[in-house]
Amino acid sequence: SKITGKGRITHYDAELNSAREYHLMIENDIRLGLENDEFEVWYQPIVDARTQTMVIVEALVRWPRRPKGELKPDEFINIAETGGLIYSLGQFVLRRACQDLQPLDDLRLSVNISPAQFRDPGFEEKVAEVLADCRFPASRLQLEVTETYVLESPERARTAILNLKTLGTAVALDDFGTGYSSLGYLRRFSFDCVKIDKSLAGLVGDDEQASALVCGTIRVASALGMTVIAEGVETEKQLKLLRLAGCDLLQGFYFSEPMPIDSLLQLRQQRQC
Ligand code: C2E
Ligand code: CA
Ligand code: CA
Ligand code: CA
Repeated sequence: SKITGKGRITHYDAELNSAREYHLMIENDIRLGLENDEFEVWYQPIVDARTQTMVIVEALVRWPRRPKGELKPDEFINIAETGGLIYSLGQFVLRRACQDLQPLDDLRLSVNISPAQFRDPGFEEKVAEVLADCRFPASRLQLEVTETYVLESPERARTAILNLKTLGTAVALDDFGTGYSSLGYLRRFSFDCVKIDKSLAGLVGDDEQASALVCGTIRVASALGMTVIAEGVETEKQLKLLRLAGCDLLQGFYFSEPMPIDSLLQLRQQRQC
């Protein structure tokens, strides 16, 4: 009936409006948060699968958002992206992470880059600038991008990856196994590293099919000369199976959760004693 139809539309509009309002409020909070230095960068160890020693750390943004309450990256990165704030936020994370990790010269640093940042033709230059400012060797840096970006702008992706390689910085394909593309296809983009997403790596040992998929991915990626990192390792069983499957590096709560720089420094001091 007319009434139901109208009612439904009004309801839909109200929902849309409040979603838009929420979006705008968060966008504004991000802007203020950047001005007030509210964002933090935490680090999660990535370990050598055989020795279990830390070789890389992944930088992960944190927003305590006091007094309103913490928002997780999955809850605000998208909003920062549509509002164009991801450029400032991304630059902040890269710079802070290079500053924090600069003294720990046996550790490499891996930083997430959103598709919008990577699409910016000035991106490689901005990276080079941060590296120079922080006196951070390009070879210690790895950038993580998702396949979304590669599929959207393959030409730009190819150029960016090659430019970064020339600089000496590695590029990793993040969240592998959540999308649609095959490693064979992605090989053409000359990624240095592939990160098997936790939704896939977490299935290892659970059933034969999932395990075969993970093992196959590791074998193909290795054959293509890529370093393989498995994400979301939470159990000893996963660690053993992934190591057996030939995975180079492992990351997950089994080893360590992300932590602030002070805790990372403490952890390393303890280990040296
Ligand atoms: P991601 O890049 O796939 O990062 C891994 C996520 O898995 C992190 O969540 C990490 O805390 C979590 N994780 C690590 N080990 C385990 C585990 O063993 N089990 C489980 N269940 N989870 C684990 P986080 O920090 O909440 O970040 C979520 C996503 O937000 C990231 O996923 C990334 O896509 C994005 N993100 C985080 N920081 C940044 C950033 O600085 N820039 C950009 N562009 N994106 C970021
Ligand atoms: Ca990542
Ligand atoms: Ca992931
Ligand atoms: Ca992700």
